[in-house]
Amino acid sequence: MTDRVTTEGQAAAMAQLAERVRGQVFFSGDPGYDGERAGFQLSGAHRPEVVVGAASAADVQVAVEFAAGRGWPVSVQATGHGFARPVTAGVLISTRRMSDVRVDPGARTAWVGAGVRWQQVIDAAAVHGLAPLSGSLPEVGAVSYSLGGGIGLLARRYGYAADQVRRLELVTADGRLRTVTPESEPDLFWALRGGGGNFGVVTGMEVGLVPVARLYGGGLYFDADPAILDGWLRWTTSVPEEMTSAVLLIPFPDVPEVPDPLRGRRIAHVQLAYAGDADAGEEVIAPLRDLGVCLMDTVRDMAYAESAAVFDDPSDPHSYQGTNAFLREAAGAAETIVAQLRSELPLIVGLRHLGGALSRPPQVPSAVGHRDARYLLSVLSPADGLDPDLLRTAHDGVLDAMRAWATGGMSLNFQFGPAGPARIPSGYAPGDYERLVELKKQVDPACLFRGSNTIPDTALGTAPALVSAAEEQE
Ligand SMILES: Cc1cc2nc3c(=O)[nH]c(=O)nc-3n(C[C@H](O)[C@H](O)[C@H](O)COP(=O)(O)OP(=O)(O)OC[C@H]3O[C@@H](n4cnc5c(N)ncnc54)[C@H](O)[C@@H]3O)c2cc1C
Repeated sequence: MTDRVTTEGQAAAMAQLAERVRGQVFFSGDPGYDGERAGFQLSGAHRPEVVVGAASAADVQVAVEFAAGRGWPVSVQATGHGFARPVTAGVLISTRRMSDVRVDPGARTAWVGAGVRWQQVIDAAAVHGLAPLSGSLPEVGAVSYSLGGGIGLLARRYGYAADQVRRLELVTADGRLRTVTPESEPDLFWALRGGGGNFGVVTGMEVGLVPVARLYGGGLYFDADPAILDGWLRWTTSVPEEMTSAVLLIPFPDVPEVPDPLRGRRIAHVQLAYAGDADAGEEVIAPLRDLGVCLMDTVRDMAYAESAAVFDDPSDPHSYQGTNAFLREAAGAAETIVAQLRSELPLIVGLRHLGGALSRPPQVPSAVGHRDARYLLSVLSPADGLDPDLLRTAHDGVLDAMRAWATGGMSLNFQFGPAGPARIPSGYAPGDYERLVELKKQVDPACLFRGSNTIPDTALGTAPALVSAAEEQE
């Protein structure tokens, strides 16, 4: 049970923590506390007792030991893009200072610190004509993205980002810093790649890089007509693996910030990334240009370092909520999908084309499941000022409408907001969730690590031993 320290004893323990950490420690009310706990997602704010701004793996060990010693939960934040619910207690480890990136061009690998954003790896690798398997927004944290699978711009050609992870360093609940490779820790190596932040704090990872320096890609914008979506779906059935693409159906508001041709319209934004030369890419894309009147066309030859232009995701912090479902097929679904935009609420519906290398098993098995899915359906809303329950009901309505095409699985990476304990198992292949729960019982039996949509303590079958001072007062 919780170590109920006296206020005096608590102050001494806190002072000792601050002394042992090379980075910075912020207690609630300290100047700097608000800045350190803030992240990209603005729906709610983290309010832990302590934020440890870790500068090294040793700092992470100190923070974990401190939390474990008093029965406080541990959460981690790199950038805040994958925030599921506000942390209300315990220790939040902020990894932004752990920003080390080292590229080994001969081995085609990069060492990536826990707080690194993809753009840093992209820039460091580009010097050598290499690229990581980064995603739509390179501001996203590389580690958590990869722990959750990671479906990026080169996904159909090179597979999940998790499949390129070669080695990880992990601080577990016992405070040990472990090197996790297929040889040293086979179970953890399997589990971390796909199983997210369930087993400890990853302080860094080594990833493979691929020989991609340029992309032919960008966006084609059409009115959100079912015929356009249907045309894209048909086109996806015959494109080569070098082509990774998606469609985002988005009701653009009638505001000056939106480019003139798109303002106030429901748009189908076809997002294209061809990993090959421009002429070959143009040949593959050409049939899409005949689908209808193209309102805007940003497709061009570009350096991989400019890859943010493909999805053109908003990069300013904001509130959002969303969920997703893997689809085994989407033929005949265009009318149903486009009809979802008739909602009174601002629903942005996306479809990513999967298959190719994503469907092949990795060299070393991992906990990334649902490899047979052909598409990932996502539904997202800007959430500022909107009732989260209302949004959840609307999002569930979209998933219900698509049930006939769905596999029953989901991607926890694309879950923005709490999935709820009942849905978390569907983030994994049948049988894998049970294996992850068994491993968590061994490595983190007290359920110290409670990150975004991690295995709930109820699944461990033990009463949660961990309560923080703040939770006790509630
Ligand atoms: C605009 C946008 C675009 C995106 N595009 C893609 C995409 O193209 N492909 C894709 O696959 N995903 C994508 N994502 C999802 C993204 O990969 C996840 O949200 C991911 O969790 C974000 O990681 P982060 O470090 O940036 O976020 P954070 O909110 O900082 O971290 C999210 C969670 O990860 C865990 N975590 C973070 N760091 C560690 C660590 N060092 N050790 C252990 N656990 C840790 C914690 O549980 C934490 O709560 C996108 C998200 C957004 C908002």
